Amino acid sequence: MRSITILGATGSVGASTLDLVRRNPEAWRIEALTAHSNAAELAKLAREFGVSLAVIADESRYAELKEALAGSDVEVAAGRTALCEAAARPADIVMAAIVGCAGLGPVMAAIEQGRTVALANKEALVSAGEVMTAAIKKHGATLLPVDSEHNAIFQCLQGGRIEEVRTITLTASGGPLRLVEDLDAVTPAQAIAHPNWDMGAKISVDSATMFNKGLELIEAHHLFPVGLDRLRIVVHPQSVIHSMVEYRDGSTLAQLGPSDMRVPIASCLAYPARMDTPMEPLDLAGIGELSFFQPDEERFPATKLARQAAEEGGSAPATLNAANEVAVAAFLAGKIKFSRIPIMVEAVLNAGNLPPAPQSLDDVLVIDEAARRLATAQMEIA
Ligand code: NDP
Repeated sequence: MRSITILGATGSVGASTLDLVRRNPEAWRIEALTAHSNAAELAKLAREFGVSLAVIADESRYAELKEALAGSDVEVAAGRTALCEAAARPADIVMAAIVGCAGLGPVMAAIEQGRTVALANKEALVSAGEVMTAAIKKHGATLLPVDSEHNAIFQCLQGGRIEEVRTITLTASGGPLRLVEDLDAVTPAQAIAHPNWDMGAKISVDSATMFNKGLELIEAHHLFPVGLDRLRIVVHPQSVIHSMVEYRDGSTLAQLGPSDMRVPIASCLAYPARMDTPMEPLDLAGIGELSFFQPDEERFPATKLARQAAEEGGSAPATLNAANEVAVAAFLAGKIKFSRIPIMVEAVLNAGNLPPAPQSLDDVLVIDEAARRLATAQMEIA
């Protein structure tokens, strides 16, 4: 039996992970589950799985969680420090599925204990970049990519050598607005209605703006260091091919599968073995055609901005990420138009001298905070 801690257990990736655990009760024991504010769901899951620890990040929900778990053996805690302590607890694998830079502290806490971290929380790696990769090396931790594209690349690299890679191509569905003309008029409901994937609100908006692919480009740059000039993006609306690796001899390996996060999650949970999932066999004849397009960076400038931030390095990626988080939250709250999201991010990136490159987790958090302040000020200008 293996043990797992799930950070962000009440979210979409958390639910997919728990579904796999639920189907394999003899294989898994849950050490800890965490959530931000959904105490009722967290308590329900903690009871169902008989976990050792349940942590709610929002301290004002502690009493609610404690009461909901009264009479059980589940230890209850609240707050950011408790979240990091949960992440640091001994477990065979830590699923990092918190959304946003809020997940960075816990991810680093797990890394500092040398854990195996299955990383869905791309914003953490985008923001911390070299700080995180250095910590992984220093503490002998292992990062397994959950993001379907990076998981695909990871799989295509098994048995291959990174020095022999010519290019890596990230596929992008293009999101729900690829063919929508008036981006000014897009509502949150429209932006969230992803054609292929069922995901949390923030990543769904990121898919619509293409910031998701931009963040993924930076994520890939850290996970698979082949050089930014070898990282490509292609729009592939069917989301059947999840990404590709081309080797120096002209062979291109691709990973295909359904648009269901349980596939890449299962690949991380069982790594290096495989485990059963409830997926139907891939029906390529039923799908019929796979199509590919160049991304339209005029209408969706996010990938261009992300590439520039990755090229600049230093504090630029954390700044881009924080500005995007603020802009997406503002859009979802009805405070700004959809089309302003990339404009706000670009304005924050160009707002003046960026802080020096982060050397530590604290530096990253300072950069994140400064970018959030700038982005909030931008919002008020609009
Ligand atoms: P959701 O919004 O569905 O879930 C987010 C989870 O994080 C919830 O458990 C939420 O708790 C918790 N959370 C939110 N804010 C905080 C905070 N400030 N502190 C602590 N916990 C917090 O997100 P997704 O599952 O869609 O995405 C999670 C991550 O995985 C993201 O980084 C995303 O980019 C990445 N990802 C997601 C995919 C998907 O299919 N959904 C695919 C690939 C990557 P609560 O419920 O209490 O608010």
